[in-house]
Amino acid sequence: MTTDPFAGRPSDAIIDTALADAAPSVLWLDQPGRPAAALPLVGPTTTDLVIVGGGFTGLWAALCAVEADPGRSIVVLEAGETAIGASGRNGGFCDASLTHGLENGVAHWPDEIDDLVRMGDENLDVIVATIERHGIDCGAERTGELNVAVTDWQADDLSESVDVHRSHGIDATLLDDTATRAHVDSPLYRAGLLVADRTVMLDPARLAWGLRAAGERSGVRFHDNSTVRALRRTAQGIEATTDHGTVTAERAVVATNAFRPPVRAIRRSVAPVYDHVLATEPLSPAQKATLGWTGRQGLSDVGHQFHYYRLTPDDRILWGGWDALYHFGNRVGPEYEHSEPTTRTLAGHFLATFPQLEGVRFTHRWGGPIATTSRFTCAWGTSHRGRVAWAAGYTGLGVGASRFGAQVALDLADGVTSERTGLEMVRRSPFPFPPEPLRWPAIQVTRRAIQKCDRRGGRRGPWLSLLDRFGIGFDS
Ligand SMILES: Cc1cc2nc3c(=O)[nH]c(=O)nc-3n(C[C@H](O)[C@H](O)[C@H](O)COP(=O)(O)OP(=O)(O)OC[C@H]3O[C@@H](n4cnc5c(N)ncnc54)[C@H](O)[C@@H]3O)c2cc1C
Repeated sequence: MTTDPFAGRPSDAIIDTALADAAPSVLWLDQPGRPAAALPLVGPTTTDLVIVGGGFTGLWAALCAVEADPGRSIVVLEAGETAIGASGRNGGFCDASLTHGLENGVAHWPDEIDDLVRMGDENLDVIVATIERHGIDCGAERTGELNVAVTDWQADDLSESVDVHRSHGIDATLLDDTATRAHVDSPLYRAGLLVADRTVMLDPARLAWGLRAAGERSGVRFHDNSTVRALRRTAQGIEATTDHGTVTAERAVVATNAFRPPVRAIRRSVAPVYDHVLATEPLSPAQKATLGWTGRQGLSDVGHQFHYYRLTPDDRILWGGWDALYHFGNRVGPEYEHSEPTTRTLAGHFLATFPQLEGVRFTHRWGGPIATTSRFTCAWGTSHRGRVAWAAGYTGLGVGASRFGAQVALDLADGVTSERTGLEMVRRSPFPFPPEPLRWPAIQVTRRAIQKCDRRGGRRGPWLSLLDRFGIGFDS
């Protein structure tokens, strides 16, 4: 039997009306408070540590490094502007999980998952403390997350998931359809799993801008519009070359995530996929009352293709996910940030989930590049005889995990042995994606198998079962 919970989506005319005012613009970046671009790097300079990339990984690497050693000189080189990549475009779910969800962590690292859970909780606590200490106004709310089942097989999955959470010491509550709808009202909901304390909802661009300002106050030098074209080992250490300047540093951290990396090895582990998002106009109090949602939790439905959604600080609904689009040859760029079919699918699924909101209009639509690995978690590595370390590939859960990823990269660049660098998750690389021309067809076959699996009540089929045996997959 096939199941499509969103089959009752509205007519094309209703979707047209809902999308008529949706500007191709990123909600989070389209607001006051965006800092002016820093001056590009011009000429030669020297520093202790050069960081390539001004998203969360690069920003956390800079702040953690300078706060650990205030005397250390640090330069951040960013191809565009702070948070112009995934960090300024995401859903703003800042989660404690370092492993793209507990079940994925249990599947890959059963022996160290309890350490990973503990380190993830500590990481989230430090992020919250850092936001408070630096007075970063990013609308952070520790609301927790509500996962919702929109089919019976997803409800069965949630009832298994609650036991997995509890067996690893995580407080989780299983809700039936009525209890789920008492939190947030959708006729599609069959069950829910509430994890109250491990997710902070925030405005990611404001967090990134605040981290940059905190770094600047501590003496970190930022250069925007300074794409690193090459990294080279020299007698002094590492030389990073941009179009108009060079930085000579003792060490480097590469934090380019889904973008074309200056270290080729990253590409083996990481594939860039585009994820798309819509945001509505602010809801009126009457519209909000039809939903409930007084706890303001971040929500996700739990199919293999899924949506994530939330209330923004000004009570819009941000609604994203579903398709994860890979473009042949690892292509990234502004031309991939908009997909008409995906936008329409997202709008239709939104109205199928919340039919009471028919008439609400979307104001923003955008996309951004997610770096995924075959195990859905960050990968790390070193190059240039250990002077360069990199961290990339958080898949769709990097807002919180990027601080941990940055710390691991710093440990690796500095040659420090720590509990973090001892983790199997850090020491072992993910199974590599094949190079082109095989990468594109392999990903398309896997995407189709995932779609089929969801339509067939979660049955995985031969291709996904084969990948499961090797512990590899595709996700966003
Ligand atoms: C639409 C979308 C929704 C998401 N939702 C969530 C969510 O709700 N929760 C969550 O946890 N995660 C989410 N993610 C994932 C999360 O945003 C990322 O994992 C995280 O932001 C990665 O941060 P980063 O710094 O590693 O990468 P990025 O933010 O992509 O930063 C990389 C930076 O490197 C720069 N760069 C690239 N090449 C060079 C070069 N050669 N020289 C200099 N600079 C360079 C880029 O311009 C970019 O600014 C989402 C991602 C997307 C795209």
